[in-house]
Amino acid sequence: MLKIENLHANVGDTEILKGLTLEVGAGEVHAIMGPNGAGKSTLSYVLGGRPGYEVTAGTATLNGVDLLDLDPHERATAGLFLGFQYPVEIPGVSNVQFLREALNAQRGARGEEPLSGGEFLKLAREKAALLKLDMEMLKRQVNVGFSGGEKKRAEMVQMGILDPKFAVLDETDSGLDIDALRTVGDGINSIMRAPDKGVLLITHYQRLLDYVKPDFVHVLANGRIITSGGPELALQLEEEGYDGVMEAAA
Ligand code: ADP
Ligand code: MG
Ligand code: MG
Repeated sequence: MLKIENLHANVGDTEILKGLTLEVGAGEVHAIMGPNGAGKSTLSYVLGGRPGYEVTAGTATLNGVDLLDLDPHERATAGLFLGFQYPVEIPGVSNVQFLREALNAQRGARGEEPLSGGEFLKLAREKAALLKLDMEMLKRQVNVGFSGGEKKRAEMVQMGILDPKFAVLDETDSGLDIDALRTVGDGINSIMRAPDKGVLLITHYQRLLDYVKPDFVHVLANGRIITSGGPELALQLEEEGYDGVMEAAA
């Protein structure tokens, strides 16, 4: 589904991704772990097409479509969803307005009819209930005054409504208490666990992986994948830290 080959990317004059290769098959969840500053968030920004992140070599395709050639909104229409480590606030725009605009823009680009206000609210209610987020929260301005956990749950409601083919989730577990972690984990499984979907789950902690079981775990360090394994690799890293795998890779 997602195929990244020899990806190199700069932020300013500094090379951050240095030959990253990774393939996620349909129906699979892959976790990416790695030390601070490894380039994990940079990878998600580069896949999303954030300005200021310059790809200097390599390829990234989603179901054969060259992502790097598309504008950010075209990548979303192609089925890519990004969950951010630090969700942005959008003062003056409610979640409901924002999500309905976003969904109908994507539907329009795919040649589908827009959802009516009533149809949209029904869908929003269903996804809010799944994430245990009060509908009143969705009527408020996007992320303004939301707690860390509310931002992450609102973001998963957004994912449920947009129903992407592929999600890159950057530290979706940060700032969540134990109950919210389970709710968000269940939400990810319910929305994204399907034979024609895929997930790249970027996380510092193995605990989210208790709820969202990865098929593969990769370690990203110094801008490339240095080792890969199954779920047991995440447990090993939690026990031993990154030093061992980084020395072995060196
Ligand atoms: P991670 O998410 O793995 O902790 P990041 O991708 O956020 O790492 O950052 C990787 C490296 O790129 C870090 O050394 C960071 O300081 C640097 N970096 C990221 N964004 C910028 C930026 N906008 N300007 C300068 N350096 C940046
Ligand atoms: Mg970090
Ligand atoms: Mg990061």
